[in-house]
Amino acid sequence: MSHRFSEYRYQNGDLWVEQVRLKDLAQAYGTPLYVYSLSAIEGQIQRLQKGLAPLNHLICYAVKANSNINLLRKIVDNGCGLDLVSGGELFRAHRIKAPAEKIVFSGVGKTATEIKMALSYQGTGIKSLHVESVEEARLINQLASELKLQASICVRFNPNVDPKTHPYISTGLHSNKFGLNREEILDLAEEMKELKHLKWHGLSIHIGSQILELSPFEQAYLDVLKLAHDLRQKYSLPINCLDLGGGVGVPYRQGEVAPSIEDYTALICRLFEKEPFQILIEPGRNLVANSGVLLTRVLYRKPRPLKDFLVVDASMAELIRPCLYEAYHDVWPLEEKQTKNEMKQTDIVGPVCESSDFLAQNRDFPISLSQGDFVAVMSAGAYGFSMSGQFNSRPRVAEILVSSTQAQVIRRRETFDDLTREEML
Ligand SMILES: *Cc1c(COP(=O)(O)O)cnc(C)c1O
Repeated sequence: MSHRFSEYRYQNGDLWVEQVRLKDLAQAYGTPLYVYSLSAIEGQIQRLQKGLAPLNHLICYAVKANSNINLLRKIVDNGCGLDLVSGGELFRAHRIKAPAEKIVFSGVGKTATEIKMALSYQGTGIKSLHVESVEEARLINQLASELKLQASICVRFNPNVDPKTHPYISTGLHSNKFGLNREEILDLAEEMKELKHLKWHGLSIHIGSQILELSPFEQAYLDVLKLAHDLRQKYSLPINCLDLGGGVGVPYRQGEVAPSIEDYTALICRLFEKEPFQILIEPGRNLVANSGVLLTRVLYRKPRPLKDFLVVDASMAELIRPCLYEAYHDVWPLEEKQTKNEMKQTDIVGPVCESSDFLAQNRDFPISLSQGDFVAVMSAGAYGFSMSGQFNSRPRVAEILVSSTQAQVIRRRETFDDLTREEML
């Protein structure tokens, strides 16, 4: 149908992913149900690797986009490292034995416990703790001293670049909580004489998410490159690694133009090919968003004069992006014939007791869709399951990974018992 979804297409009247019919999965495993295509994820990784081949590079997948350990293992098996933001994510890395030298850890609020976990990961400690404040640098130094080791760090630079994305996912402005500005970083460089247990070997940036133009990236890359050279020359710091972060957007709607992986990697190669730095990138959404769908079943139609409500069995508890950022997701019926029927303005809403519980609003949607029919909420592979919860005491849903003709359950559906397991009477 569209190149946005390399592995999703209508065939003989039904929507398929790779060589599997989605209706068969909905019937076998129930709904709501997350389904991912391995081939779609591996395709994105291969395009990035091909584009960055001229550079000494490492792709560190941003685990928070979709943190299922089965997916993480496959992403690591494809040569990627991991970008983490919590001790829980470090535990996931440990569960799949992800190699220490390919792990970086970002985040403004790392606790002492998390820092110690990272410093002792696999005995050697991870490749880099990405420091986001002066106080954090001092704490890492102190903990490394107690553990009698050197902590390998990058410092996260906030380049004050406007990524022109939704304010809630913009991170590279001085008005955001992330990173340190140039003056703060130069002051930290002065203080390094006293921070003898820090091995400062790089800089990182990450200016936001779902960025649809390359120009903010270029500006931020030029700024971090200049700062890296200044730190090498004026402070003799052995900066040999630049982590350019993630944030490259993907098309969620038909006709939406996002940077191609080829243009994005060409920009990076143009700016860094002759530079003495290992280049890291931290893609999250770009690897997984359009690989996944959320399957859901129609429960009821509420006809209204101007706009119908279609109540489905998935909600903001399973996919919070529409509610949180008014994010747009295409919704496709699993039966192709529905797409040819008469349309009416429709809101697709969930069962949760919040008016913000919608998956799609004001869409032209087939009137023929009725109780028992299935639809696929498209582009749900990133920030879908990983942001899901149990609000309204809804057990978290199952996740399926499809590869060719095979479908594997990579997370079982939670039961009612799971809801109260940790509670005490
Ligand atoms: C969230 C995050 C990413 C990934 O962002 P995407 O938009 O999913 O590519 C990368 N790096 C850091 C530090 C992040 O917080």
